[in-house]
Amino acid sequence: MSLPGGPFLARSGADLTLEGHRLADLAQRFGTPLFVYSRRAMLDALAAYETALKGRPHLVCYAMKANSSLAVLQTFAQAGAGFDIVSGGELARVLAAGGDPAKVVFSGVGKTRAEMQQALHVGVRCFNVESLGELDRLDEVARGLGLRAPVSLRVNPDVDAGTHPYISTGLKGNKFGIAHDHALAAYRHANSLPGLQVVGIDCHIGSQITQLEPYLDALDRVLDLVEAVEADGIPIHHVDVGGGLGITYTDEVPPDAAVLVARLLQRLDARGHGHREVLFEPGRSLVGNAGVMLTEVLYLKPGDEKNFCIVDAAMNDLMRPAMYQAWMGIEACHLRNAETLCWDIVGPVCESGDWLGRDRKLAVQPGDMLAVLSAGAYGMAMSSNYNTRPRAAEVMVDGEQVHLIRQREAVESLFAYERLI
Ligand SMILES: *Cc1c(COP(=O)(O)O)cnc(C)c1O
Repeated sequence: MSLPGGPFLARSGADLTLEGHRLADLAQRFGTPLFVYSRRAMLDALAAYETALKGRPHLVCYAMKANSSLAVLQTFAQAGAGFDIVSGGELARVLAAGGDPAKVVFSGVGKTRAEMQQALHVGVRCFNVESLGELDRLDEVARGLGLRAPVSLRVNPDVDAGTHPYISTGLKGNKFGIAHDHALAAYRHANSLPGLQVVGIDCHIGSQITQLEPYLDALDRVLDLVEAVEADGIPIHHVDVGGGLGITYTDEVPPDAAVLVARLLQRLDARGHGHREVLFEPGRSLVGNAGVMLTEVLYLKPGDEKNFCIVDAAMNDLMRPAMYQAWMGIEACHLRNAETLCWDIVGPVCESGDWLGRDRKLAVQPGDMLAVLSAGAYGMAMSSNYNTRPRAAEVMVDGEQVHLIRQREAVESLFAYERLI
């Protein structure tokens, strides 16, 4: 049986394993809820981009909001990747993990003055700017420090990525980017400001994209602009095509990263832009299928309309089902030789939206361990302390080795910054 959970997830007899480690054993050893990642799966996913880009000036910037745990960042930094960040906090994490600020691109619609200063101080590779107001603010901040800020304009190519509305970002009605029609004027403005240095152009059209066409359409729109801007006398060094490549959660068949890269390079060549440095900002496709979340079955509550399987992980640990109605695979860590029933897998949080999976056929008993698959992206990174639930621990397996990369939070730490009056 092939599992929609990445190349290192397998059934060995009745046991679900990641890089050969029995997940039920890891759940026993470290407790639940627990995120477990395969380091090799992350490195393989990065290598798919790197190999396809070989021989070209390029930089793969891991969009770290997908999973910003330090050991994950360290893994990618050591493999030579850069980072796409969206806050000063993320920049601090890159530095703490040993990442190179000169390989950091700073995205996001709402950068503060303090974040701009912090990024200028450490020397990020480039600011991906999203509005005229931000251009003016960045110019002022950079001049205040006696520096010039390298900028790329994030343009909104107005293409439909064909994904969930909450994670579609390249349409006119989205808050992101500078409208295509206004981009040339914005470049002229940027070029006139002494505190700025135009270095590139970028776009990002959405997330969990499973087709090639939206990427090619967006690239065409971006190259139209590059040509117009350069004809106007403003050189553009790099083209950043963003991230967003989807992964398989159930039956999606996204293109391989290698195919996506090859097709985009082909299009760049065909239009005479083959010499340009090209940047990618993949998040989900580097980490999503490298991880699982483990949870213990607490109680079974069979009913007239629904059977509920209550587990010790909840929407605060893994938001995707509650937030996007996302379907994520759920497997028993150890298969039972028993009749399967149809269950809704739900957590202890006091919300009806607190579910991890609906109508799943499983043979389960209290005390069993379940694995939620493809949980490496937008899992831990989106978790919260809602219901004063300490956040989960994280483990990274790497061949024979098992590393605890994040301790389970202690309850006292959750209110350590609070004061009684
Ligand atoms: C979220 C984001 C990405 C990464 O998206 P994925 O779907 O995780 O690949 C890349 N660039 C920007 C600007 C983003 O906001």
